[in-house]
Amino acid sequence: MPPPNATLPPSSAKTPRARSRKKKRPKPFLYPQFCKACSRCIAACPKDCIHISDEIDPRTGLTPVWVDLEACNGCGICFEACPEPFGLMPKPDPDFDPGLVPPETYFGPKASTAPTPTAIPDERVALPRMEPMVLKGTHAAAIGALLAGCRHFFGYPITPSTEGAELLADLLPKLDGAFVQAVSEVATVNMMYGCGGAGLRTMTFTSSPGFSLMLEGISYMIGAEVPGVFVNVMRGGPGLGNIAPEQADIKLVCRGLGHGNTHAIVLAPSSPQEMLDLTMLAFDLTFQYRNPVVVAGDGYLGQITGKVTLPDEMVRPGLPAWAVYGDEMHRGNLICSIDLSEQDLERHNAHLNDKYRRMTANEQRADHYRTDDADWIVVAANTPSRMAKGAVRALREAGIKVGLFRPVTLWPFPVDALLPLVERARGIVVVEAGSGQLEDELRLALSHRTDRVPRIEHIQHFGGVLPQQHEIVEHILALEEQPHGS
Ligand code: SF4
Ligand code: SF4
Repeated sequence: MPPPNATLPPSSAKTPRARSRKKKRPKPFLYPQFCKACSRCIAACPKDCIHISDEIDPRTGLTPVWVDLEACNGCGICFEACPEPFGLMPKPDPDFDPGLVPPETYFGPKASTAPTPTAIPDERVALPRMEPMVLKGTHAAAIGALLAGCRHFFGYPITPSTEGAELLADLLPKLDGAFVQAVSEVATVNMMYGCGGAGLRTMTFTSSPGFSLMLEGISYMIGAEVPGVFVNVMRGGPGLGNIAPEQADIKLVCRGLGHGNTHAIVLAPSSPQEMLDLTMLAFDLTFQYRNPVVVAGDGYLGQITGKVTLPDEMVRPGLPAWAVYGDEMHRGNLICSIDLSEQDLERHNAHLNDKYRRMTANEQRADHYRTDDADWIVVAANTPSRMAKGAVRALREAGIKVGLFRPVTLWPFPVDALLPLVERARGIVVVEAGSGQLEDELRLALSHRTDRVPRIEHIQHFGGVLPQQHEIVEHILALEEQPHGS
């Protein structure tokens, strides 16, 4: 526990000359009730003489710092480091105790010459041309994050996503970054909340049960408009399920991101190359919209290796003007997700709805393969789209007009591109490693846009069993044999 003024007295065993020298360099004084325990002074002190107390100050609920004045040389660096107007300072009248009252009562408003925060723009830095690499999906996503300028990772290991985190644990310290294995997924998402709120690029790797645990924090991040990237390598469910690939979280990522009015852009890679590309894109989008972004892969994608070409540029992130960065310039910024006024919260939700509308209008993405003249549109995402593509090739060789429509964004569902295709097709076949969650998204998106919902068939497997090319072929051949209109 620190003494009342949170400092220890200097030794009296110094020479008179040394004492007079020290008078010119006042040592720090702290009213502990005004210390926010931010630790900036600890990091700044070259003598390592500032420490966090081991007891909570009952007036604030915080653990203030205390200064070992024996070790302090009075350099004054900590005065500059402390962002609190009434934090560390040259010692004032020792008889004066302001108590825990608004500091302005005693000191008047803090004079500030800080300019209005301005954004520091991102920079794009050209990369040398390199031979393609062979990477597994999780590693590709981790490299994509680094190239996007992410230097802050928080996470809790869970198969089949852990290798991505392991690679970042190895690389981030070498890149002046931070890798923190949190005590849980709940801790992870709240660390991301703080880091994203500071305007920094942050991410996690997780998998289905772990992602479920993060939902409350994701809702906070969406409410507070805090960016962050969640790479969810989905596995079999429900419950702990297993560690095999399943598109088990489509419902969760598209419709269930915590309580309240929540949405996030959801990107669905189908190869190691896209694990890298879409993770990079996720960082752009999460800052563009100030909203979390989910990269929803699956367990197979996380583990398979594939040829990956690196981009021709990487990002050196700037700092947004809204960042709660903790320095003088950003001192006026505040982020929180609570709004106790009903009218204010309704206005905030209207603002979020406007943002969701912009995402829906501008961020729908899909990949087409031979859909122009297709009678049957196969809709598949993630790993099942690889089998579906093989099936389309085989069926085309047999003269069947079939095409693959692959949503790259699961939310917003790319219905604008799908509508013209279904108007001329005989029907849709949804192929998924899941129990109909992708099909539900498709049906919902279509129902908002057309009264003429086409015939929709499906092939579904779950529990880690993947749809196979031959069964897609057989299913569509059987459909072809049915008379038109049936
Ligand atoms: S005055 Fe210098 S040495 Fe003393 S606590 Fe502050 S930073 Fe450390
Ligand atoms: S910098 Fe100021 S507010 Fe932060 S821990 Fe040090 S004394 Fe407390």
